[in-house]
Amino acid sequence: MSFKVPFIRPQEHYRRIKEEVDFAITDTLAKGDLVMRRQLRDFEQNLAEFVGTKFAVGLNSGYHALAFSLLGAGVGPGDEVITVAHTFVATISAIVHSGATPVLVDVDPDSNMDADAFEAAITPRTKAVIPVHLNGRMAPMDRIVDISERHGIKIIEDACQALGAHYRGMRSGAIGAAGCFSFYPFKALGGLGDGGAITTNDPHIARMATLLRYNGEDRQTGEYHYHGYTALLDNVQAAVLDVKLRHFPKWIEHRRNTASLYRSKLQDVEGLQLPHWGDESYHYETFQNYVVRTRERDALRQYLRENGVETLVHWQKPVWEHKALGLPEQSLPETEKICREVISLPMSAETSAEDVDFVAEMVTSFFATKQSNVIRLAAV
Ligand SMILES: *Cc1c(COP(=O)(O)O)cnc(C)c1O
Repeated sequence: MSFKVPFIRPQEHYRRIKEEVDFAITDTLAKGDLVMRRQLRDFEQNLAEFVGTKFAVGLNSGYHALAFSLLGAGVGPGDEVITVAHTFVATISAIVHSGATPVLVDVDPDSNMDADAFEAAITPRTKAVIPVHLNGRMAPMDRIVDISERHGIKIIEDACQALGAHYRGMRSGAIGAAGCFSFYPFKALGGLGDGGAITTNDPHIARMATLLRYNGEDRQTGEYHYHGYTALLDNVQAAVLDVKLRHFPKWIEHRRNTASLYRSKLQDVEGLQLPHWGDESYHYETFQNYVVRTRERDALRQYLRENGVETLVHWQKPVWEHKALGLPEQSLPETEKICREVISLPMSAETSAEDVDFVAEMVTSFFATKQSNVIRLAAV
């Protein structure tokens, strides 16, 4: 099915930077720079500078960024790691694969960690917490840092959806022991395929991740220091990501402007909750996703699909309801409610003002039709 307004426009994304991307690829290939060469080091340095940490280590995915950060923080069997139930499954899988036990807590209406729920879930076995900065909006890190420091808990930020976001002077990925990023193609900074990175000020975590991604080997000495993994960020990918990182601030501004346009056109629609929380003066959000909430989610999604607008739902049901994952049954009301109500509208650096106009018109007409049905029913 082809949509009048698709969720994203990867072809247009490429078209706009084709010359630079093509050059980065052909130049890298022509030089034979395929594995751990200058392009990777340059990108790591530029990423670290952008995030505001001493080190960045390029990896093959956000998942491995999380997994290696946990190993670097010394998390293992017998430990508990607290995170939110409302996140991409990789956050939780990384904890499970470390041998630790994931402890899932509820979120606030903005989809980020409820700091009180975090504090209440702490036990003597709690070793780390993974706040997730969902949809390009940061978790309440002032409170999470304060609580973690009081209890001696390490913070690993899942910043996979929040490169460039900041909150009260704190930059995503630069606050905890480590920050984890994903360059999956449809993240705000997306590569040609899977990719990720750890950002950190801790030389131990940086070195450990650098060894783990290359089967545990120190390339200078040939010594194996760990039973490691094969998890490098490819050099060609790094070269392309470095090109994109230069454009990234303007892409974020475009996303923020797109969000403002949605807001101005949809703010009076009754029955629709927009992702604006009145704290713009100290929250710099990057709008990885523009997620609205409504009790009519499924009907709205169907209506938009029929009218040429592609949407996504992150996520259809709470993670513990995927029985094969073996997570304990939970009662986390906000997470459950969010899963029933959220729908993500088209959002990317290529989403145009005309796209927003059309989507807003369709959303408005859906609720207007519904409203008139309700009034008609009431009159009968
Ligand atoms: C994308 C994402 C990840 C994992 O990234 P991959 O690169 O796909 O492994 C982890 N957490 C969150 C919140 C994400 O959105």
